[in-house]
Amino acid sequence: MVTTEIRRDPITGRSVVIDRAPFKRRTDFDLEPARLEDAPPACPFCEGRESAAGPEILAWREGGPANAPGWSVRVVANRNPILRIEGGMEVRADGLFETRDGLGAHEVIIETPLHDQPLHTLEPDRLWRVLWAWRTRLQDLKRDSRFAGVVIFKNHGRAAGARLDHSHSQLAAFPIVPAALAEKVRCGSDHYETTGRCIFCDVVAEELADGRRIICNTNPILAFAPFASRVPFETWLMPRDHAPRFEEIADSALELLAAAIRSVLIRTDWALERPAYNLVLHTGPLTGEADQAFHWHLEILPRVTRYSGLEWGSGMHRNPVAPEDAAWMLRDREK
Ligand SMILES: [Zn+2]
Ligand SMILES: [Zn+2]
Repeated sequence: MVTTEIRRDPITGRSVVIDRAPFKRRTDFDLEPARLEDAPPACPFCEGRESAAGPEILAWREGGPANAPGWSVRVVANRNPILRIEGGMEVRADGLFETRDGLGAHEVIIETPLHDQPLHTLEPDRLWRVLWAWRTRLQDLKRDSRFAGVVIFKNHGRAAGARLDHSHSQLAAFPIVPAALAEKVRCGSDHYETTGRCIFCDVVAEELADGRRIICNTNPILAFAPFASRVPFETWLMPRDHAPRFEEIADSALELLAAAIRSVLIRTDWALERPAYNLVLHTGPLTGEADQAFHWHLEILPRVTRYSGLEWGSGMHRNPVAPEDAAWMLRDREK
């Protein structure tokens, strides 16, 4: 029986190899411990060390002065930014080669004042505040016409690129629409031109009709394992109804999203025994150019496999766990 398939993702146009080997156990994966075990006294994100992380751009606090203890979520500028807030917009061309200033915003969302409190262990109303911070920062940065695209992401664990254990996410605003977002906008626009419909809405409809890859369905948020999952237990969460921008999400939907993220992370943590993971939030380009063809969504990508020359050379990930099997395991684990 053939157990290897090449599957095409309708949203990115990319293909993956689903190599449905006998079901993997934890020891079959290349797992590094998620926790880094850095020393809390040196951690700049711990409550009481506010000056080490820098002045706050935004914070959720129940009173008390800024840049002091008493917060539950705190947003600061990244101390080692990949992009800087000052710079020009002009593009300098030298033959085929274009250069522009590394202009942008790079912020850190410190998700909890406590050092040893991973995101999925936060109570739902505390996790809600993290999403509130994402939404508030997006709403603010959207007003800066120099920025074209924003990506929010989280690295949890060394294998996912984290350098600090203390739970945090990051936001990067770019003067261009970055490639990972642009390829979805392109595919979405092609689909919209052909059909007059949003590709994400169509995927939601097909996933609901099929049912095999659904992990949880708490209207208005759907969580599912994508048909062409790149890594074991990859999960996407998105609104069931068309919504191009995360920053416009209502409080009630944000509450359900917080509960769904928590639930998926708890189940993934159980299934893969505390894996490292990346989380990515894609909202529509700030220019509004793709509002009919794009639909915000959040990706959770456990990092239990390594990228090798295969991925670099072919652009195709090899995934040893079929998304139908992953969804079955995560769905079966109702908390
Ligand atoms: Zn800390
Ligand atoms: Zn849509």
